[in-house]
Amino acid sequence: MSPDLQDQLARLEAFYGPPELPAATDPFEMILWESVAYLVDDERRARVFARLREEVGLLPLEISTTPPEVLAEVIKDGGMQPEHRAGKLLAAAEEALDIGLDRLEKLIRTAPDKASKELRRFPGIGEPGADKLLLFSHAKRTLAPESNALRVLVRLGFGEGDEKNYSRMYRSAVKAVAPKLPEDFAWLISAHQLLRRHGQEVCKRSVPLCEVCPLTEGCRWFLSRAGDGTA
Ligand code: SF4
Repeated sequence: MSPDLQDQLARLEAFYGPPELPAATDPFEMILWESVAYLVDDERRARVFARLREEVGLLPLEISTTPPEVLAEVIKDGGMQPEHRAGKLLAAAEEALDIGLDRLEKLIRTAPDKASKELRRFPGIGEPGADKLLLFSHAKRTLAPESNALRVLVRLGFGEGDEKNYSRMYRSAVKAVAPKLPEDFAWLISAHQLLRRHGQEVCKRSVPLCEVCPLTEGCRWFLSRAGDGTA
């Protein structure tokens, strides 16, 4: 039997406190947020994003008319390969101009499935990324778990699989939690944030810190190891 999701999330909120909203929640700005930096923490990503906003702007036309080398300089503190990341920002801006942000926003409101297809045209946006953009737009009832949150969900007992077949694992967890999700977008977004933080800080990829975790009761992964003496 899968654990009580609402109870597990209440425990996480008691453990970490209420999560903050990310710096970007508009769909196009969230796409830029993902591309602006690589393998850095959120604080550093936020600094690079703020510099992009101040020195270039966040509108597709403002980005598409900025030379790649200038973009690369503006975002250079965002980790490896600034030229590659600048190329992704330019490609995202070109897609946005081609699709039209007004049309995209209308699709998100009225036809989330069609919007998902359009969102997947942007660089680096697959099914999980499109789900996340739709979640933060209050257009799709999902947890849209990114890799850390997904690992937590599967260890808890929602879905099956491993990272060798990421899309199968993602779909399995999304399907397993779907019947348990409320129609409350504030709760869903908070749950997305809390699960991500839990995967980053406690339910780590190689060695989960179960000894400090508030979710041991009802966690499939923990209970299976407790049963065989390895927890
Ligand atoms: S008990 Fe361990 S495996 Fe289960 S969610 Fe907590 S840290 Fe992850």
